[in-house]
Order: sequence, then C-alpha cells, then structure tokens
Amino acid sequence: DRLGFALVGLGRLSTDQLAPAFEKSDRCRLVGIVSGSETKPEEWKKKYDLDSKNIYNYRNFDQIADNPDIDVVYVVLPNAMHEEFVVRSAKAGKHVYCEKPMSVSAQECRQMIDACDGAKVHLGVGYRCQFEPHHLECMRLAREKTFGELRHIEAGFGFPIGDYPVGDLRRWRLEHELAGGGALMDVGIYALQACRYLTGEEPRSVLAREIKTDPVKFAEVDETILWSMDFPGGVVASCSTTYGFGGINKFTATATKGQFGLDPAYSYGGIKGFAGDRPIEAPEIDQFAKEMDAFAKAIQEDKRSKVAGEEGLRDQLVIDAIYESVRTGRRVDVAPQQRSS
Ligand code: NAD
Repeated sequence: DRLGFALVGLGRLSTDQLAPAFEKSDRCRLVGIVSGSETKPEEWKKKYDLDSKNIYNYRNFDQIADNPDIDVVYVVLPNAMHEEFVVRSAKAGKHVYCEKPMSVSAQECRQMIDACDGAKVHLGVGYRCQFEPHHLECMRLAREKTFGELRHIEAGFGFPIGDYPVGDLRRWRLEHELAGGGALMDVGIYALQACRYLTGEEPRSVLAREIKTDPVKFAEVDETILWSMDFPGGVVASCSTTYGFGGINKFTATATKGQFGLDPAYSYGGIKGFAGDRPIEAPEIDQFAKEMDAFAKAIQEDKRSKVAGEEGLRDQLVIDAIYESVRTGRRVDVAPQQRSS
C-alpha cells in the first residue's frame, strides 16, 4: 500500500516538482496539504482530488495526529521553519521528510533528531542527488577506486537570485531570520554533499572567505563563498557557491589515474557526466519520486534512511565551521566529537 503524504508549504518546489512527482511514485501518494494561503488549498484540492478533511493550516496542523490517511509529513517551508514543523510532526506521531538544508543550526538539527527518535518516527532530509543514477555512478567510481586513489575534488553550485522586493513572499532567501544563511545553505550544500559522499568521510577542517559585490541586496545573507576542506584520507577539496551568477553547477574528482565528474551536476534533470575519456551513461529519472520512494521503503522496512537526520546534522556542522571561518578569517576544525551523533 502506498504511504499517504501531506506537503507543508505550497511554494515553488511543492508546486512544480513534488506534487507532479507523486504521480511517478510507486510507494507514495499525495493525500494532504498544509498551507497558510487563502486560495491555494481550494486549487490544490481540485487539482489533486484531495479530501477536505486532509487540508490543514499552520494553526490547526497538530490535529493531523488524528488523521490516519497521513503517514508522512513533508516539510517544504523556508529553512528556519523546518525545525518547528518537523518537531510538531513528530509530536503528532507522523514520519517526516524535511527539505534541505535540514535547519539553520546544529543545535536545531539535534532537537529534530531527538524529537523524531523520541516519537519513534523516521526522519529524512531531501538530499535528492544521493538517489540520482549519475551521482550514484560517481560514488561507485570513487569507492571502487576505478581511477585510483581520490586526491582532489572541485565542486560548486550557484545561481543569480532575483531582486525580490520587501513584501514578495520569495524574499525569504535574502532574509537571515527565515533562511539562516545565503548561497551556502541553499546551494553550496550540494557541493559540500558531493565532497562528503565521494570521499565517504567528514572534512577535518575548512578555510573560507566571502566575497560580497552587492552589500545592499546581500545585507543579511552570504552572496559568494569560496572554501577549502581537507579529509582524513588525504583528499583536498576546493568549493564555491554563489547567489551572484549562474553557470557553476558541477564537480570534478581527480584521482591518481584519471578524472571523473558531472556538469551540470545538481539540476533536476539533464545531468551529464564523464569518467576518464567516456561519458557516464545513466538513466534519466525523476529525482523527487525516487527519493520519496526510498524514504517510503525505509519506513515500510523500518530501516534507517541513508539521508536520515544525522546526515543533515553532519552538513550543518561543516556549514557552521565555514561561517565561522568566514567571520574569523582562520581555518576552523570540524570538531571530531561532533562529526556524527
Ligand atoms: P518558496 O518560496 O517557493 O515556497 C516557500 C513556501 O513557504 C511558500 O508556500 C510560502 O507561502 C510558505 N511560507 C510560509 N511562511 C512563510 C514566510 N514567513 N515567508 C515566506 N514563505 C512562507 O520556496 P521553495 O523554493 O519552495 O523552498 C522551500 C524549501 O525547499 C526550502 O527549504 C528550500 O531550501 C527547499 N528547496 C529544495 C530544493 C531541492 O531541489 N531539494 C529545491 C528548491 C527548494
């Protein structure tokens, strides 16, 4: 039987990617929504044939505890709201899938993990690339040492963010209180993830700097960050992220006997890769359907998801170290006792 999902937050990702992905899913179906909007619930109800009793707003959301149609709550809100809704979902006894970045601080990530463990519900983070066939092939090339020992990774992701005026709901990405950070938290996290899943390790330390060309637009969040990382096995990484311009969307892994990589790497589709002098041949899939199915399978088999809350926490610890390095201008250790919980 397919698991019933409720989407919380009906913004761009929910509307354009997630709702359509349910139609390609084998294990999940959209049965409910949670929205603060006056108009969207009615539109969604019609379009996706939703039952009125499965439509909630942010105030009556906790009543979802009494709704047996809903197995999983999928949180797709601005970053700083993830923690509240993950914890409320866990208290309601629902499994939770949470969009990336998991939250805005390591402490909040830990609270989310504890709330879900305490309620005995599964928690997953929306790291879709970990289920994407080109990325999986690169992880295999790294793990099996097809091109020898991995030495260096260059990874970056950025896009030019809009000039959202005050009052525009999309402006949250430029506001520290709702986003928790800028390009790094939003898209730099994909480059960080790539380094972590290619090496299979946690970075030992980071050194970072921020370049701000528009201090008015980026008064509250980071615009462009360049950072380096070193890993226990000897790999060094050079990463970039930006809200200032597009075109960087890749990683290149250099090993002792050759290179492999993806470019574009982190798009919703059309990913292209190379391994030595050959293209990577991998199927085109719906990443959102695939990650939701993987989460549903983990729940049904009661196995820990590979993108469980701990994975979000590990990224957040590195992100915290990168911001500290930006602030201090110094190299910052990713504290060993904090690398995993
Ligand atoms: P969006 O701005 O399009 O949607 C955000 C939703 O939150 C809207 O429905 C909005 O009404 C609602 N909301 C509730 N309170 C709000 C407030 N105070 N201010 C602004 N909006 C409020 O954003 P999005 O692009 O859909 O991103 C949502 C989440 O999904 C973010 O955490 C983002 O990082 C993540 N995301 C992930 C991917 C991916 O590929 N996995 C892609 C895009 C976004």
